[in-house]
Amino acid sequence: MSFVTVQFSSSPDLQSGCEFVVTIVAICGLAAAAVTRSQGIIRFERIVSLNRSYWMSHSFGRKRSWRFLLEALLAPSEKMRVFNIESVIDEFETVTKSAGHHQRETLRKILEQNGKAEYLKNLGLGGRTDPESYKARVPLVTHGDLEPYIQRISDGDSSPILTGKPITSISLSSGTTQGKQKYLPFNEELVQSTMQIFQTSYAFRNRFSNNILAASFREYPIGDGKALQFIYGSKQVKTNGGLTATTATTNVYRSEQFKRTMNDIQSQCTSPDEVIFGSDYRQSLYCHLLCGLIYSDEVQFIFSTFAHSLVHSFRTFEQVWEEICTDIREGVLSSRITVPSIREAVSKILVPNPSLADSIYQKCVGLSNWYGVIPELWPNAKYVYGVMTGSMEPYLKKLRHYAGNLPLMSADYGSSEGWIGANVNPSLPPELATFAVLPNIGYFEFIPLEKLGMQELESSLTSIHYKEAEPVDLTEVEVGKEYEVVITNFAGLYRYRLGDIVRVTGFHNCTPELQFMRRRSLILSINIDKNTEKDLQLSVEAAAKLLAEEKIEVVDFTSHVDTSTEPGHYVIFWELSSVSNDEILHSCCNCLDLSFADAGYVGSRKVSAIGPLELRIVRKGTFDMVLHYYVGLGAALSQFKAPRCVSQSNSKVLQILCMNVTSCYFSTAYEN
Ligand code: AMP
Repeated sequence: MSFVTVQFSSSPDLQSGCEFVVTIVAICGLAAAAVTRSQGIIRFERIVSLNRSYWMSHSFGRKRSWRFLLEALLAPSEKMRVFNIESVIDEFETVTKSAGHHQRETLRKILEQNGKAEYLKNLGLGGRTDPESYKARVPLVTHGDLEPYIQRISDGDSSPILTGKPITSISLSSGTTQGKQKYLPFNEELVQSTMQIFQTSYAFRNRFSNNILAASFREYPIGDGKALQFIYGSKQVKTNGGLTATTATTNVYRSEQFKRTMNDIQSQCTSPDEVIFGSDYRQSLYCHLLCGLIYSDEVQFIFSTFAHSLVHSFRTFEQVWEEICTDIREGVLSSRITVPSIREAVSKILVPNPSLADSIYQKCVGLSNWYGVIPELWPNAKYVYGVMTGSMEPYLKKLRHYAGNLPLMSADYGSSEGWIGANVNPSLPPELATFAVLPNIGYFEFIPLEKLGMQELESSLTSIHYKEAEPVDLTEVEVGKEYEVVITNFAGLYRYRLGDIVRVTGFHNCTPELQFMRRRSLILSINIDKNTEKDLQLSVEAAAKLLAEEKIEVVDFTSHVDTSTEPGHYVIFWELSSVSNDEILHSCCNCLDLSFADAGYVGSRKVSAIGPLELRIVRKGTFDMVLHYYVGLGAALSQFKAPRCVSQSNSKVLQILCMNVTSCYFSTAYEN
């Protein structure tokens, strides 16, 4: 006998213990079964010939009917879960109510699973799994400390080095936050926690809320349909020892679990796999847009991992939309798509559809400067989704422009090292987004950080920017304070300093809600000045306002410390949406200089220990060349974060920028 367990996401009329007749309308026949309900689970018994995908409709006396797509190969006795929003929320509530207990338990599991690993054995844990012994014996580390171990793993040493079970895949970080890609161990547990995070935030986006009239409604419900997802698999390379190394997102997209979860949470990508894993990201992007339009009525939301990729996609759409219309009108894929696997897969779903092409054409010509293109072309989309915090904030303005009246929702907080928290308050605007830590996906500690006073600042090393206290546990953090996140995970990272700074904004039950503040590392420092990525972002935002009157945007930006001059000075590179005049750009340059409010910078500028800031304008398309360079190295387009500072050693990127400079301006802001 085969049976399938279905958990209903909405079944208000069902009563525990009731029996119902269920009719299964299958592609190849009909089947009927009696069902009973106990604790929200309905068990269908005596189901025959369930071995493909079926649409199923069933009615329950009171003329209520649902349709479910059961999509899986159902072997005898195999169970299939249909996603249940309320049970995911219940589970999250339970776990977060006893966050402290779950942290201890998670640490115990991690240490038990990996007790045999050389790294832990050498530290003398001797089988102990309690947090106190762990913290007493295991040091805080950075990636650099673990590099020799990870190197041995990638060179093919399969002994238990960092984990009990050998690591078989390596994740590559995007490499844009620190200038070079980091190798990190990857395993099945990281896939599981990714799915848990995706399901949790999805459940909260779809949960029932009460409005002031006490009516129950779903905040951001999505129905049966698809998601236009700008996602990309990146190059897979083999390490010296034969392990597969690719970006963390690619590792996830390639996992079996990913597809299943996407089905569960109604987020099936409009594009076929061949597009996601295509070998040319520009062709993949074109086809994502095309497939998204073919299924435009079904699209429920628009997604990419990071907001940069969303903006990049719609900037590209501005260039290629007419060609896409022609493809849809004629049912023939553009000759620009040359990768055979992509061509074949997309050609299968592309049929001549002149009326769709006309409608897209009319809508596009009717838009004013592409404002609101997303809801116009995807009328059933409920929101735009992706990481919009931290280094993605500069793209929000443009994204809002494309999204028109559609809400922007910031996606969860994680890294190639592992996930940290889910956005369980989806209605907060991206600037205020918070992430509730999941206490059972890793063991988390937080290093309290306090800004240094002026005197301490002057005598400190340039890389140390804060006074640090002893790390505290997840449940010990305090609201309003800033911390650096420390992760212990199931994939061999123990007390690993992530380099991210977060602020605690509150608690969800007993687990903290974090706001992402910035990367910890300084990006601009010459003398006693200390400026982070956030400081640069604020300066650029202030100066970009001067361009707003002319309707010119800063498309992207980065910085560089130029010490080839005496004294050294900051260089800011800007790519603009169109040409501006010298006078305005000179004012922008002064504004950038004055907007670095850090006392060390202001003091150094006043006494000319740091030279006048230089603004260099680069040709349109320069940042696309930078992106192209990183993708060539193995970064995924959807995971790309423009480097906010380019060091002298990053000579290739510096060369791309410098070769494309069209004009430069020196600040006169500190001249008397
Ligand atoms: P990667 O190196 O590509 O794995 O990127 C991971 C980094 O991206 C994290 O350490 C954060 O600095 C940043 N990041 C990830 N998620 C978010 C988020 N929701 N908000 C802000 N920054 C994020």
